[in-house]
Amino acid sequence: MQTHVLGFPRIGAKRELKLATEAYWKGKSSEADLEQTAAELRKKHWQIQHDAGLSFVSTGDFSFYDQVLDMSVALGIIPTRFKVPKCVDLSTYFKLARGDVDKNIPAMEMTKWFNTNYHFIVPEISEATSPKLLSRKIVNETQEAISLGFRAKPVIIGPITYLSLSKGIDGYDVWQKYEETIEVYCQLISELAPYAEWIQIDEPILCSDISTQARELFNPAYTKLISAAGSSKLLLATYFDNLDDNLDLALSSGCAGLHIDLVRGQDQLGSVVAKLPQSMLLSAGIVEGRNIWKTDYSKALSLLRPLQQTLGNDRLWIGSSCSLQHSPVDLNSETKLNNEIKNWLSFAVQKCSEITQIAIEISATIESEELLANKAAIASRKNSNLVHNPQVQKNLNSILPEMLKRQSSYTERKKQQSWLNLPEFPTTTIGSFPQTKEIRQKRLAYKKGQISQGDYNNFLKDQIKDVVRRQEELGLDVLVHGEPERNDMVEYFGQQLNGFCFTSYGWVQSYGSRCVKPPIIFGDISRPEPMTVDWLTYAQSLTDKPLKGMLTGPVTILCWSFIRDDQPRETVCKQLALAIREEVLDLEKAGIKIIQIDEAALSEGMPVKNRDRDAYLKWAVESFRLSTTGVADSTQIHTHMCYSEFNAIIKSIADMDADVISIESSRSRMELLDCFKEFQYPNEIGPGVWDIHSPRIPTTDEIISLLNKACTYIPKERLWVNPDCGLKTRDWEETTESIKNMVKAAKSLRS
Ligand code: GLN
Ligand code: ZN
Repeated sequence: MQTHVLGFPRIGAKRELKLATEAYWKGKSSEADLEQTAAELRKKHWQIQHDAGLSFVSTGDFSFYDQVLDMSVALGIIPTRFKVPKCVDLSTYFKLARGDVDKNIPAMEMTKWFNTNYHFIVPEISEATSPKLLSRKIVNETQEAISLGFRAKPVIIGPITYLSLSKGIDGYDVWQKYEETIEVYCQLISELAPYAEWIQIDEPILCSDISTQARELFNPAYTKLISAAGSSKLLLATYFDNLDDNLDLALSSGCAGLHIDLVRGQDQLGSVVAKLPQSMLLSAGIVEGRNIWKTDYSKALSLLRPLQQTLGNDRLWIGSSCSLQHSPVDLNSETKLNNEIKNWLSFAVQKCSEITQIAIEISATIESEELLANKAAIASRKNSNLVHNPQVQKNLNSILPEMLKRQSSYTERKKQQSWLNLPEFPTTTIGSFPQTKEIRQKRLAYKKGQISQGDYNNFLKDQIKDVVRRQEELGLDVLVHGEPERNDMVEYFGQQLNGFCFTSYGWVQSYGSRCVKPPIIFGDISRPEPMTVDWLTYAQSLTDKPLKGMLTGPVTILCWSFIRDDQPRETVCKQLALAIREEVLDLEKAGIKIIQIDEAALSEGMPVKNRDRDAYLKWAVESFRLSTTGVADSTQIHTHMCYSEFNAIIKSIADMDADVISIESSRSRMELLDCFKEFQYPNEIGPGVWDIHSPRIPTTDEIISLLNKACTYIPKERLWVNPDCGLKTRDWEETTESIKNMVKAAKSLRS
């Protein structure tokens, strides 16, 4: 029985890739240094897969920024504004992702990879696009693995997923480039074929509601790819949900293998097995690639043993549900975790071993030591009183309908909020200001016990004072405290709530070199004491301008944490909402009268399939309202979303009933506001005018033109002026210049 993972995290157990990449960006190291770190990491990760006993190592899952961008480069699908010649060197590659500062060329757009917190670079296709094989990175990496003695299984993103996720420029129909794209795919696959017995082609799009073109072109595409592959076999990999309506399509692809997600799409197993053609083997994705809990071996075996009976060892593979790129690297790095909890967990390295162990257990006749240990761990979690808190249960059961709405409508509230005395086009930011080296060093020193709590607090107060002064000087209308005390917008709250625990190295890639360390929600959630009141009241005491208090919303904490799998998501979310509600009310009582509850992740929590979305949106919106609606009409509630395609959920966003929402929109050049043609967003809105994911400073004219465009969608009385997102990753120079331009733009529009 063959075993494999769909991909392994590339960042390194200690974020080596991030550090090397950023050093290169800053000119502190050479391209050769970066290439060397990359090669070392690849080798290490292949070795881990090999040592765990997996039948293959995945190749091509390494990327310097993003695997979709790598695919675009391979296919030569590159926006014309970059004027890329015959090949894409590393520095050009990074320019595609981050923009070309010198030439003032904006970066390619970025959006979320299905419902994960991973962001990919959106391929752009226009009439001018002419696909051609521009990079052989995956071939090279596969050769590299082979020369190191590994059995390689290259992984590429399939053409139907690729095209479905591409963006047609100016309404161009991306499927018009289908033929040409497939030709390049065929060329790539035929170049890979000599090195690979199996090629994994990821088509997660099959687990979503695909377009008619995608459906119609699927089989013709695979007929060509299979013939290009020659004697290599294709494993069609699907994940993140079940195949459902697309099952027949996948089964008729002609591929030699089909991978299905048995964690998020377990209910499809029966129909898949019943219909699986003899010519196809099944790869069972039984070990969760997106969460951190140990696999319950007994449960897995009860699914897999009958499967083995039906399919035999030759037609059954055991694997991870999806790529392990969404999972932290190595649990062994964690020395500070509570041992009871640690025994419930499994990261990428451990998941590789779980896969091989499960494959062994399938045919075992006696209970192995490993199986017994696994059973004990599963039982310990189920019965632990670290997990269950009866008071939280009780609070959940006492949520009343009136706790889910504001006292008055927006129109009435607007009057009650006129005391804020804001000008037209009020300017503000999303909350964080640059997290300078100084801040990070102090935080580290404090964590290590090198400076006292008192000294650290004084340092943070000075930071807040500095940020407030700078904002006053820049002439912003609604100030923030800058979030210097927060390492991360979710971790910061998790650390103060019961039911959470934290890892030291549990990083996962979010985008490019950016990694996040999601907290683990292992138990019922409650708030022992106020979390932000001291910092925010201090900041407000420094200025006469209104200071906006920042909190992270329940849905975002949920989406950006590893959460319990023994409870519905909705329950975890409502527990979080109750805790945030207490905080909002404490802030209001303390005199903070503008409160922003960030729901940056609302959209990524959406189920992959349309038909599950309404149910999700209902409880997600309810959770937001539960946290925010306890305040008086005169208190202004803001929310923020880093999100750029919200046509589908605009009604739900309106249902959240925040007084003001700020959204990401500058990268898409306000295109996302298109939905306001159809739908009148009732409250106030700040469409981002500065792409903070890129180091480029927007000009005043550019901002004015974006805002003028916004005015055609939304009455100017309801427009705010702000960046796309928080500024923690930017430096002060860019920040100051950009805000200056933003404020200038607002002033010019007012006059
Ligand atoms: N308030 C947060 C910040 O400014 C919001 C970040 C986010 O939306 N990702 O950093
Ligand atoms: Zn944001």
